[in-house]
Amino acid sequence: MDHKLSVLVQVDLQAQDVHLVIVGCVTEANQHALHPVVARARTLISSMTVTVDLTGAAHLEAVAVELLRAAIHHDHALSGAGPVEILVPAALSDHPPVPHHANTLTGGTRTRTGSPVLRAA
Ligand SMILES: [Zn+2]
Repeated sequence: MDHKLSVLVQVDLQAQDVHLVIVGCVTEANQHALHPVVARARTLISSMTVTVDLTGAAHLEAVAVELLRAAIHHDHALSGAGPVEILVPAALSDHPPVPHHANTLTGGTRTRTGSPVLRAA
């Protein structure tokens, strides 16, 4: 199965806050990709609060959250790094029961003719 992970970085200069919005799949196998992103966000502007928002993830593994939390905690030695807050949804989610490929099958482009059909007299 193809687990894809995307990160949207929102920087609020007034609130001194960096928001990392994670969408897609966060699994044990791919959560490490977030470590350098979080580390970079923490040092972007010193003393900024970094929020790692996992509430929008379509697929979130509990072990991935634990590994991410541990990695962030381990990075506390990072000089000038701001605090990190991890937002986790109330319930961990997995893919809906439909297989991944179902989306690509129904997502095809359909062409509909809007113009009236001309008929030869
Ligand atoms: Zn997935």
